[in-house]
Parts: sequence; C-alpha cells; structure tokens
Amino acid sequence: MTALDIGANTLVACTTTTGEQYLYEGRDLFNRFRETTREIARLQSKLEDWRYSSERIRRLYRKRTRRRDHAQEALCRDLLERLYEDGVDTVYIGGLIDVLDTHWSVETNAKTHNFWSFRKFTERLVCTAEEYGISVEVRSEAWTSQECPQCGSRDRTTRHQDTLTCPCGFEGNADLTASETFLKRHTEQAVRPMARPVRFEWDDHDWSESPHSHRPKEQRTDPSTVHHNGNVAFGDS
Ligand SMILES: [Zn+2]
Repeated sequence: MTALDIGANTLVACTTTTGEQYLYEGRDLFNRFRETTREIARLQSKLEDWRYSSERIRRLYRKRTRRRDHAQEALCRDLLERLYEDGVDTVYIGGLIDVLDTHWSVETNAKTHNFWSFRKFTERLVCTAEEYGISVEVRSEAWTSQECPQCGSRDRTTRHQDTLTCPCGFEGNADLTASETFLKRHTEQAVRPMARPVRFEWDDHDWSESPHSHRPKEQRTDPSTVHHNGNVAFGDS
C-alpha cells in the first residue's frame, strides 16, 4: 500500500508500507514553465492591436503543453514501475485539497491549474496504475500535513516552505511527512521504518535520482520515540 501527496513544489511525495519514500521535484519544471509564459506575454505585448495571437506564440503554447505532458507521462511511468516492483497494490492520493484551500495564492493557483494541471495528472496516474493492476483511491478528507510523525503533535509543529519541524527534534519534508502520516493512519499493515527518501528531478528525458538526494535530519532510529506511534508496528514483520 502507498500514499501519495500531490503538490505544487513537490509534485509527488510518496510513502509505501515497505518503507520506501520517493519525492518528485517540480521546481525546475515550474521555472521553465514560467520562462515560457513570460516569453509568450512579451510577444503578445508586441502584437499589433488587431491581432490576438501569432504563429510563434502558438508554437510556444504547444511547446509548453508538450513539455508538461511528457514530464507527467514519464513521472507516472517511473513511479508506477517502482511501486509495482515494491509490491504495492493500492495507492491513496491526497494533498490537492490542501493545495487548493489552505495555501491558496495567485502563484499556487498558477501552479495547480495552468502549470501542472492536476486533474489531468490524476487521471493519468489512474490510467497508468490500471495497467499495472494497482488500484487508486482519491481521498478528499483533510490531509494530515501538520502532524509530527515522531511524537504525534499537531499544534506544536511549524511548516516553513517545504520543511516541517517539531520541538521534539523532528525535521523533514512536509509533503513526505503528510503521506507517511496518512499511510500509518489508514493501513492495517505494518509500516516498515523508512529508508532514506529518494529524490527525483526531471532532465527533459527522464526522472533521475537527484545528486542532492539526502537524508533529512531525523531521529527515526531512536527507540524511545517508537512507542509514541500507537498501534503502528515497526520492524520487518
Ligand atoms: Zn514531534
């Protein structure tokens, strides 16, 4: 079983019951989307009054869409391939509610609707999952993005950009943490201790492991914190 958090900066943050965590970075893609959008605006401002568009502008729009579709297609393929190999049979998707309601801003709106087109992305994920015999469930309930996975605190945690910190000493990627918390709450299966998260970046052809992949500062191995996780069983059972 796996939980995906779909967001704007981190396109997908994923936690599996087998203890894998994957992060797909959206920043470079978004920056390139914004560059192309600015170029379109620049060309539009130079158009004569009676003209609505030009061949060059239309070409840029197509290029922008093609680039996104290619990255989405490749992401779905890369992720589902991994999940299939990890033996995952069900995927829970969440995170969009959070993006749309809580952190709404002009920029987030641009990211969710124009840039990444989340509805399209979710449909693509569902279709690709079907090919691998993996079922997908979209959960509209509030996504648990503020809960500390180490001590369970909700009101003492602080989110700054993509990082969630807690006075208990926990620090980690907020979206990844959200998917982990969700998974632990909704699975009967034991969730294994997390391996080092793997971070992927898009290079126009493939999603490949980022050279910046690093383990965030966390103290998961401290045995004194394990009992705070209630009914979640740890270990290789
Ligand atoms: Zn904590």
